[in-house]
Amino acid sequence: MSGSPERKFFENIYRIFSSPLSNIDCGEKCGAFNEYGVPVCCDISLIVPSAYQAEWDYLKDMTDLWQPWSSSNPIDADLEDDVQDGQVLLKCLGYRQCQRQYRTMTCRAFPFFPYLDSKGNFLGLVYFQEYRELCWVISNLSIVTSAYKAEFQQAFNLLFKQYPESKESYSQFSSYLRKEKVISDDKIILLDFEDNVLLLDPDSEISYQVSYEDLESFGPFSITKDLIYPDENPD
Ligand code: SF4
Ligand code: SF4
Repeated sequence: MSGSPERKFFENIYRIFSSPLSNIDCGEKCGAFNEYGVPVCCDISLIVPSAYQAEWDYLKDMTDLWQPWSSSNPIDADLEDDVQDGQVLLKCLGYRQCQRQYRTMTCRAFPFFPYLDSKGNFLGLVYFQEYRELCWVISNLSIVTSAYKAEFQQAFNLLFKQYPESKESYSQFSSYLRKEKVISDDKIILLDFEDNVLLLDPDSEISYQVSYEDLESFGPFSITKDLIYPDENPD
């Protein structure tokens, strides 16, 4: 793949999308509630990372960090079915041997995915609902920096242009989320690219601005949300 367009594409997109999502080591926050202190999004027993096929081809050439994920446990068979079209499931060497420059797009984006409205407009970041009680960031959204959100926007816009099927997948996933939220009579929490946090009605798709203080916190993080730590000042 040396010098191939795919290699240049992922080198570029990884260079652009490289900032941590906050100025805090959030792995210490969620790890405190996880077995052996492992950050939740780096715990293969909880989350299996995925990569686009071209991304995996690039990573294979560049690093020994990753290998294909497999499991003999029948319970895990659903994971293969749930992965987006054109993506493969991977396993890394573990958080103590992470090579940050070779994290996948899904590692960099977690706990968020790109939210698209029903017209296909890329409006911002929405978190994966199923990790609310595991990921500390979801209960502390104010710590997500403007720089991270800008990089997220730039990187996914490039990805959507290069791989239009990825945009279609996220569009479908956003649509699925709207349907789920209509059923549960709940709003979608959206971080836009102007540093606002919005509540979005999943039916009308009308949104309004709210304050971070008004947002719910979840699971073990609901008791720690209001405590001020000296290292937790958002920039
Ligand atoms: S993004 Fe969430 S799950 Fe990952 S290390 Fe930070 S708090 Fe933990
Ligand atoms: S590559 Fe790094 S960030 Fe991604 S799952 Fe592995 S340890 Fe975590």
